[in-house]
Amino acid sequence: AASGKTGSSAQLDVPGISKIIAVASGKGGVGKSTTSVNLALALSELGLRVGLLDADIYGPSIPKLMGVSGKPEVLEGRVMKPMEAYGIKLMSIGFLVDEETAMIWRGPMVTSALNQMLREVAWGELDVLVVDMPPGTGDVQLTMAQKVPLTGSVIVSTPQDLALLDARRGTAMFQKVSIPVIGIIENMSHFICPDCGSRHEIFGHGGAREEAQKLQVPFLGEIPLTMELRVQSDQGRPVVIAHPEGAVAQAYLTIAEHI
Ligand code: ADP
Repeated sequence: AASGKTGSSAQLDVPGISKIIAVASGKGGVGKSTTSVNLALALSELGLRVGLLDADIYGPSIPKLMGVSGKPEVLEGRVMKPMEAYGIKLMSIGFLVDEETAMIWRGPMVTSALNQMLREVAWGELDVLVVDMPPGTGDVQLTMAQKVPLTGSVIVSTPQDLALLDARRGTAMFQKVSIPVIGIIENMSHFICPDCGSRHEIFGHGGAREEAQKLQVPFLGEIPLTMELRVQSDQGRPVVIAHPEGAVAQAYLTIAEHI
């Protein structure tokens, strides 16, 4: 029976990169890119050499989140020098073509762009490359999960039932291609009112923890819904950099220690 696995040729390691971790979500808008960026920064805070690859070809947001624009320098051959911000090496389709161009690409173009960003970039020695996956569990995502030699995946979900259902599909997708699911993160887990300090569970709470238990994958932690996170993201100065001592940055650091 078809297992969904590709041959080993598609899964060649990338020289110099020790671990490649996908950050995925069952659907858009749950905070996957925000999580990718802050996790990458937290891993860097832990002393690791970190790269961040924006594989969200149809909606790249890493350039904005990391406050970087411009075009990568082309080195010898076709190899590109990665962009850099806050000590992290970056590559995104957003640096290469305008958004409308990538929007109309079909599967094969997406795959070749991804390959180029992975293998024709002078990443140098990296302890970990964080890959911000496109949201969802369709063909594009499945192909990517097969083409990129992933060490493991992290699934981001909000506590709502629907998001959790999608997270379950995400877990199943990685399991289908035999990529270990490192764990699930609950984003927008709860809201602490900045005025009164009380806690509000806007989308419910704890759903992702229960879901992780059911799926028998680790629960990595919860990130609250905060104004600070959204504002810092919009300014291209992620919260782990802007407020490293704060509770949110600390939550990302704790998660990073388990990756
Ligand atoms: P995705 O990559 O899943 O589509 P994003 O990371 O782009 O989601 O986040 C969607 C929106 O939600 C962005 O405006 C982002 O700033 C905001 N956001 C994400 N996580 C949080 C959070 N924990 N608290 C507040 N806003 C958040």
